[in-house]
Amino acid sequence: MVSARRVEDADGGIADNLTGGGVDLGAGGLSIRPNWGGKGGAATFAAPGRWSLCLRELPLSSSTLPRPVGLSAVDPIVPAAVPPFDAPGASTTGEESGSHAGEPRLTLANVDWVTALAIALLHAACVAAPFVFTWSGLAVAVALWVLTGGLGICLCYHRLLTHRSFKTHKWVEYALTVLGTMTFQGGPLRWVSVHRIHHKHSDHDEDPHSPKHGFNWSHVLWTMAASPKGEDRAPAAKDLARDPVMVLIDRWHFVPQVALGAVLFGLGHWLAGAGLSWLVWGVAVRTVFVFHATWFVNSASHTWGYRNYATDDDSKNNWWVALLSFGEGWHNNHHAEQRAAAHGRRWFEVDLTYLTIRAMALVGLAWDIVPAEKPAR
Ligand SMILES: [Zn+2]
Ligand SMILES: [Zn+2]
Repeated sequence: MVSARRVEDADGGIADNLTGGGVDLGAGGLSIRPNWGGKGGAATFAAPGRWSLCLRELPLSSSTLPRPVGLSAVDPIVPAAVPPFDAPGASTTGEESGSHAGEPRLTLANVDWVTALAIALLHAACVAAPFVFTWSGLAVAVALWVLTGGLGICLCYHRLLTHRSFKTHKWVEYALTVLGTMTFQGGPLRWVSVHRIHHKHSDHDEDPHSPKHGFNWSHVLWTMAASPKGEDRAPAAKDLARDPVMVLIDRWHFVPQVALGAVLFGLGHWLAGAGLSWLVWGVAVRTVFVFHATWFVNSASHTWGYRNYATDDDSKNNWWVALLSFGEGWHNNHHAEQRAAAHGRRWFEVDLTYLTIRAMALVGLAWDIVPAEKPAR
């Protein structure tokens, strides 16, 4: 029996991106294919050059679901058809070696060497940090932590682009997105897509980074695993894929951070005679700090902390993650009301990102701020 699983989340935050007008079932592009993985019936509805939606048989147990997610994309930009994830040869998650389909692992076969090497080199560069320390280099690192981590990732990639918790001018959105690209966390399309999929499948097999698959997996290893073919085409971020400027920023996302490194080295040398210090502290130390602050939201905030809401996942409110990540650590609150701009609920749950959004509203840079409506228990 094949049954369609509703691809909507409770808040409706990603529903349009998973099921909306991008799928053209009436244009002669509809196709239904069997599930080649042999793990339950599946049908894929695909419109050439558009999006495809894989409807999978509802499993008796979520652990019977093969990885990865049941959504695949036919890239609207790259016309070549992408096979469904459960097609033979499409999986890079270790299923070939006989591992359990619900337990993703990083292996020599599926490691993304470019990403793994970049993460390793940035960490290695931090070893040099004490030897090139200057106060001006530290100040640059702190300022860039606020700009790229606080505004770029927490405020823009997460609350604005992923959840649309508020609205702003397009030029502000683009400027903030460019700040987000300076964190070595990839372009906005894939980031947003992965995070929406996390919310849709939180702590189930299809969750890209659940501690149920190991703390280290949820913290960092998942970032180094090569995506199954097609997953990097941002299947759950088609709203962003319709915006040509956003697509441009996404495609060239590595340029701003490379340029930033060059500017820091030159400016540091010119202004303070400390080019190497500004480069190491402003890029390596700051980026590694933002890495772990972001990753702790996925790992620690699904492992340790307290819960204000009985959500259908393991999300927790974690004070020290909130401190490191401008309020993102109030993660159980966030899972309970994904679109709400404020992540703090109680008086002590300070949320710097929300305060920033309120400050932006005061000067006309933010409006239609989505309110939190469920009281904390
Ligand atoms: Zn989460
Ligand atoms: Zn979120």
